[in-house]
Amino acid sequence: MKILHLIKGRIIDPANTRDETADLWIVDGKIAEKPQRPDAEVETIDASGLVVAPGLIDGHVHFREPGQSHKETLASGARAAAAGGFTSVVCMPNTTPVADNAGTITLIREKAARACVNIFTTGAITKNIAGEELAPYGAMVDAGIVAITDDGHCIQNHEVMRRAVEYARMFNLTVLDHCQDYSLVGPGIMHEGEWSLRLGLPGWPRMGEELIVARNIQLAELCDSPIHCQHISSGGSVALLREARARGVKISGEVCPHHIALTDNCLRGFDSNFKMNPPLRTAEDIDLIIAGLADGTLDILCSDHAPHAAYEKEVELDVAPFGITGLETEFGLFCDILVHQRKALTLNKVIEMFTINPARLLSLDRGTLSLGAPGDVTLIDPNQEWTFDKEKSESLSKNSPFHETKMKGRAVRTIVGGETVWAA
Ligand SMILES: [Zn+2]
Repeated sequence: MKILHLIKGRIIDPANTRDETADLWIVDGKIAEKPQRPDAEVETIDASGLVVAPGLIDGHVHFREPGQSHKETLASGARAAAAGGFTSVVCMPNTTPVADNAGTITLIREKAARACVNIFTTGAITKNIAGEELAPYGAMVDAGIVAITDDGHCIQNHEVMRRAVEYARMFNLTVLDHCQDYSLVGPGIMHEGEWSLRLGLPGWPRMGEELIVARNIQLAELCDSPIHCQHISSGGSVALLREARARGVKISGEVCPHHIALTDNCLRGFDSNFKMNPPLRTAEDIDLIIAGLADGTLDILCSDHAPHAAYEKEVELDVAPFGITGLETEFGLFCDILVHQRKALTLNKVIEMFTINPARLLSLDRGTLSLGAPGDVTLIDPNQEWTFDKEKSESLSKNSPFHETKMKGRAVRTIVGGETVWAA
C-alpha cells in the first residue's frame, strides 16, 4: 500500500463545490479517506499556503508524434504538461499520418501510456482531415478516442459536417471544430483590421470564424448532439454562443490564453511567434471574450499548444506555420489576467474550467477530488510571481511569445496517480 498525505492545503474541488482547508489522502493512486493502516509507507507533503486542486486538464494540445517528433514527442509534450500543472491532456489528430484510423490511434495510445501524464487521444472527423469522407468512428472509439476533430482544418461542406455530427451521435462522441470559413479567410494570416492594412498583410476576418460558429449552432440543434467550438477568437462568436446556449443548444466554446493576453498589433515587429490560427484580434474582442468567460458562455480553458522548430518559425511571416507552445504558461496567464488583473473570475472558476468542465465535455473519468477518483492533483500558488524562460522549457520547441513574461499564479507541483511527476 502506497500512501500520499497532503497536509493542510486549501482544497478547491469545484465538481463537489468544496473549498476548505483540510488534508487530502491518496492511497494506491486513488483519492481516499484517511487510511487505518499506520504501518504502510506514507509520503507527506506540506501543502499549507497552497491550493490543492484536481489535476488540471488541457483539452487541446498538439504533440507531434508520429511524424514530426523533432517538434515534440509524446514524452516531451507530457513533461511540458507536467511543468504547467497538467495531469491530463487531449491530443489533436493532425499528426503524420493523421489519426483517422484505429491502427494509428492504437500506436499513439501505446506510446502515450508510458508518458508522465495522462494523454487522451482524438480521432479525425474526416479521412486525412480532408473534409470529404467520414473516418471510421466506431473502430476509433474501440481504439480509445475521446472525441473527433479536424482541428487545424475545418469541414467546408455542411452536408458532410451534418453527416459527421449524426454519425458521432451514435457513439456519444463530442465533435470539436476549428471554425474557419476558407472562402472568407483565403490566405489571411492576421486579424483583418487596421493593423493588417498598416502592415500590408492578408486579413483573416472575424466573420470567417463567426459563420462556422453559426453553422455549428444550427447543426447541434438539428442533430441534438454536442459540438464544441475550439479556440474562440472573435467577440461576435461569443454573442452567437450566448444566444444559442440560452435556448439550450448543445454548443460550447473554449478560450486560449494568447487570445486574451495579446492583440493584433503585436505583429508589427513581424515576429512569427505572434502568428496563430485563429489570429490575435483586438482589445474589444478580448473584453467580449472575458465577458463570455465571466457569464459562463465560454466555460473551458486550454492552450492549443502547437510546437514548431525554430528553423520553421524563423522565416518570412506569410510562410511561417501558425501556432505557439502554451502548456507551461497557460495557467499563469489565465490566473494573472482573469483572477488578478481583470477580477473577472474567481480562482475556483478558473480551476473548474480546467478540470470538471473539460472532463464532462469529453466524458473523462477525471477532474474531481471525489473519493475513489484517480489521484491526480495539482498544487497551486495563486499569488506566486514568476517569469517564464523559454530556454528552461520542457518542450522540444521554443516558439512562445511569452518569453520573459511576468505572471502571478503558478502550478508548483503536479501529481499523477499519487506520484509527483513535476515540482517547481
Ligand atoms: Zn485549431
